Amino acid sequence: MKVLCFGVGQAGGNVLDALLRYEQRTNADYVVDAVAYNTASADLRGLDLVPEENRILFGADEVSGHGVGADNELAAELAERDSRQLLRGTDGAPTSTADAFLIFAGLGGGTGSGAAPVLAKHLQRIYEQPIYGVGILPAADEGALYSRNAARSLKTFVDVTDHVFAFDNGAWANAGEDVSAAHDSMNEELVRRLGILFASGEVSESGTVGESVVDSSEVINTLRGGGISTIGYAASELPESDDGGGFSIKGLLGGGSSSVDELDSINRITTQTRKAVLGRLTLPCDVDSASRGLVVVSGPPEWLNRKAIERSRTWVEEQTGSMEVRGGDYPLPESNHVGVLVLLGDVSRSDRVAEVRSTAVEAERDRRDREADETSADAGGDAEGVVDERLDT
Ligand code: GDP
Repeated sequence: MKVLCFGVGQAGGNVLDALLRYEQRTNADYVVDAVAYNTASADLRGLDLVPEENRILFGADEVSGHGVGADNELAAELAERDSRQLLRGTDGAPTSTADAFLIFAGLGGGTGSGAAPVLAKHLQRIYEQPIYGVGILPAADEGALYSRNAARSLKTFVDVTDHVFAFDNGAWANAGEDVSAAHDSMNEELVRRLGILFASGEVSESGTVGESVVDSSEVINTLRGGGISTIGYAASELPESDDGGGFSIKGLLGGGSSSVDELDSINRITTQTRKAVLGRLTLPCDVDSASRGLVVVSGPPEWLNRKAIERSRTWVEEQTGSMEVRGGDYPLPESNHVGVLVLLGDVSRSDRVAEVRSTAVEAERDRRDREADETSADAGGDAEGVVDERLDT
């Protein structure tokens, strides 16, 4: 599945850079172009693989390249005012070769949180392809302001995109660990999942296409209807092959299912499927609240047992209670792992999203109380109603 990628703000740019690095490392080719936006010129300079000419500074007249801090309303305003400048990012990009557009942003900060939904809205007006957000939620200990920004931005992002892939920094930072110290490793986890999703169905270097590959329409159909999705992934290392040739040679020779024990293959695939769903998801959520699902099993072709893939798909249907779970394979002749990726689309219950929202409601209430104290007693008015209405998803 070919994607045209946009990274907005610091987190957005970093994750985009990480995806490009992962694509390079895995010899894949699914990013048709990559554009980064920021109000802070230093953040754009810090990027690595996004081409220099695709790094776009906006709002420079107002904030002189110094960024907007955590003021996402200002970022949204600047993006709206500079919308032509934002759309310049697609000039010269091979837009027609993209199956989908992808917008990465940290939702708790300023630039990405405010400007990513504005960019999505403008791209939606012009292009026919689906536009997906990749929204990063702040950890609870990053403060109430970040939660407030994230709650409001997530709601808008979901409204103006065709789906939001959510990633929760809170779920991925280890206890007691500084969230910013964990950004690189979290980005790796996120881009591995996205990379596998987009690479599956693309013809690999060796020309191998699976028996029931996941093509872009399967991904698009899983995401159809909008909402928030989460991704699980688990992999198991394969034993050395006993033909003395290692994985790659056996794979390059076209496999040879005789050397793979069928039961072993079935067990590995079904076990990794359970681990993917019941382990750490990009966004922790109630699995049975997902509307649709997609299971992608990757590994050397001789390990991709169709019975097991079907069994895994059925298991995910049981867990989600959804009758719309797709499944397919992604052959990787030179891999020494069998991996299972599970995409759960349109999840409606997530304690983390609820937590971000309630922290945001409290923060908004406190802010209005302070404002009311500072002005007159009746200025507080109907703060709760206003807050709930603004945050209601
Ligand atoms: P912006 O530049 O104003 O859009 O602000 P940021 O992108 O820095 O947004 C702050 C939020 O993004 C916080 O929740 C940070 O923890 C998170 N963040 C910043 N950089 C990264 C990153 O590289 N990876 C991840 N996962 N989160 C990041």
